[in-house]
Amino acid sequence: MSSRVDGVRPIRRGKVWLVGAGPGDPELLTMRAHRLLASASVVAYDELVPPEVLAIAPASAERIPVGRRARGCRHHEARIHPLIVERALEGKDVVRLKGGDPFVFGRGGEEIEELAAARVPFEVVPGISAALGAAAAAAIPLTHRECAAGVTLVTAHAAQAGDGVEAEDDLLASIPREGTLVFYMGLGRLEETCAALVAGGRSPETPAALVSKATLPDERLVVGTVATIAARAREADLEAPALLVVGEVVARRVESPALAEDAPTRVAR
Ligand code: SAH
Repeated sequence: MSSRVDGVRPIRRGKVWLVGAGPGDPELLTMRAHRLLASASVVAYDELVPPEVLAIAPASAERIPVGRRARGCRHHEARIHPLIVERALEGKDVVRLKGGDPFVFGRGGEEIEELAAARVPFEVVPGISAALGAAAAAAIPLTHRECAAGVTLVTAHAAQAGDGVEAEDDLLASIPREGTLVFYMGLGRLEETCAALVAGGRSPETPAALVSKATLPDERLVVGTVATIAARAREADLEAPALLVVGEVVARRVESPALAEDAPTRVAR
């Protein structure tokens, strides 16, 4: 709405900042994300964004939860929450916080299309995607000169995009046969994903890891193979959000030696 009433200047449009909030640990925010959040007047956030991150916003900031359920969102009409566009048209800057990175399974691409269509200026601030946070936390390299020349980020949800087998075939056809795979959103489809990988030619002995709540205080890690990881994860009762990492790199996981101070017998200098 442009107001042209006597002498009143047209309202300036606010800007929408599409901000990656990282994998969970607030210390993994970028400095830009932190700065924008700390001075935000409107914050629209996903359910993946932990309360500690949200707490960085001023108490006075308007907080708009815009989380979609992982499932059942296929028929969502609006791809960006209407309140975000509304606030921007009112002239307010909006920090749109998304878990991880906005452009990795975050629907950031759809949101910027819609912002552009509404003529709302936007800017994207990258974040540490869950795969990178999980790899660092679990000390699993994602590429390795000796065993993984590439890494592919996949969503296990693609397997259920269509109806059954056909969709799984599609998913497999798009997955490289070599290198590391990281599956997002896969906890509910672990068995199917692993079976599909074996059907697609990966050895059941391929090392696999499940990282739950990576970089958060209750982070957990289960290691196995493509054949065993699903059962192990169920046994350990791992919770979402979780990522499945598949590939030889999982066997290259290195546990950090304890600090000298923690060692039972300290060597005297
Ligand atoms: N844009 C986000 C991903 C959103 S999709 C990013 O770049 O990370 C949501 C999926 O991300 C979850 O189902 C889970 O597979 C993964 N995920 C997000 N945070 C995670 C965490 N802390 N630990 C493990 N997996 C996580």
